[in-house]
Amino acid sequence: MENTKLVLGRSISSWMEEHPLLVDMIETKEVLWENECLQAFVEGDITYDHITEAAERLNRFAPLLKEAFPETMKNDGIIESFLIPVENMKNKITEEYSPIVGKVYLKGDHDLPIAGSVKARGGIYEVLKLAENLAMDNGLSVSDDYSVLLTKRYKELFSTYSISVGSTGNLGLSIGIISAKLGFNVTVHMSHDAKQWKKDLLRDNGVQVVEHASDYSKAVELGRVACQKDHKCFFIDDENSIDLFLGYSVAAMRLKKQLTEKNILVDEDHPLFVYLPCGVGGAPGGIAYGLKMFLGNHVHVFFAEPTHSPCMLLGLMTKQYEKISVQDFGIDNLTDADGLAVGRPSSFVGKTVGPFLTGIFTVQDEQLYKLLFLLSQTEQINLEPSALAGMYGPILLNRSNWYDANFSREQLQNSTHIVWATGGSLVPNKMMIQYIEQGKSIFSNQ
Ligand SMILES: *Cc1c(COP(=O)(O)O)cnc(C)c1O
Repeated sequence: MENTKLVLGRSISSWMEEHPLLVDMIETKEVLWENECLQAFVEGDITYDHITEAAERLNRFAPLLKEAFPETMKNDGIIESFLIPVENMKNKITEEYSPIVGKVYLKGDHDLPIAGSVKARGGIYEVLKLAENLAMDNGLSVSDDYSVLLTKRYKELFSTYSISVGSTGNLGLSIGIISAKLGFNVTVHMSHDAKQWKKDLLRDNGVQVVEHASDYSKAVELGRVACQKDHKCFFIDDENSIDLFLGYSVAAMRLKKQLTEKNILVDEDHPLFVYLPCGVGGAPGGIAYGLKMFLGNHVHVFFAEPTHSPCMLLGLMTKQYEKISVQDFGIDNLTDADGLAVGRPSSFVGKTVGPFLTGIFTVQDEQLYKLLFLLSQTEQINLEPSALAGMYGPILLNRSNWYDANFSREQLQNSTHIVWATGGSLVPNKMMIQYIEQGKSIFSNQ
């Protein structure tokens, strides 16, 4: 009976015939999709200048961020994370799974100030840009010290505007905290999978939280509609926003500098592999686009998605982008990786970044917990489940023989792997202990 259902006018079995990988995806098995249409990077509508302008805008806001969020002081008001070597974890993965050849680093976005996740890049950038635009119509000049925006005069101006966003949790945290601090009225529309502590933290910060019984895509839709009625309301559109994308892409410019400081080469003889957890696609998409732009084609980028929410994989493989959802194929979009629980991808990201992605793989929740436990044990770094998705890259790609099929032994020995750790530092201690316990019990019972 199941197979008589039509998706975009075609039977599921005809989709499966065209894309055999769908068979395993529908059974929520782990898969590797290799992009047969991989292209060398070419600059699209989003240019080098757009990204450098975004970086400069963030520099202008550094004095404000230092004053409003003292935790940004140690990095001079720049929201940036460390590149951390994780030798112990590499050895542990070698022991438990298979050997990783090359150096392994963690990009520590779990520890980004203000929002404790990768969303601190895009979400905060978009709100700051909006505030700058409004303030410039009211007397601000680019040469001013932007901490002036924290004064009563500008707070009163911002308080006449509203900001609205739909989120599985972390984008809401990022947008909510920065918007409330500047004085905007801010509403976050949360999907059913958003964690209670995230809602509580937002309310403590003066953010209005609207809870929906539906999933992420619906929460976004409802947020959009609620905002449209009010001409002084700005809707931050996770599915289509160029500003969010630009905020994320700045990471690549800064990573390039970090790699140079660490004498890490990226060229044909020294490939760089980057593993990015993917939800709707904005964060990994912006970062991936920037990586290709600033570091070139010897960066090989993989997205990581939960086996129950492989939306970007589905959208790119079928080339149907946002027209298709995992639910269309009976995949339930239920995962403990709440940051990645998205059933329908961003078409903007799929079209802008898809051609330059080397591939996408999927990972089971059990593995996320197990890796969460192992990372905590070996490196004393605690992440939320979503943020471990990238860590599974070297494991799955080894299992699929991808490295050896594409690179020489020597290239692999000279290679660098960057696992993008996308969130975790704001998770309440009690919850983190539960996560670690869960990973430990999966590890012990295997
Ligand atoms: C949001 C999020 C991602 C993915 O970002 P998208 O823009 O939704 O693709 C990954 N990890 C964490 C922890 C997140 O919160």
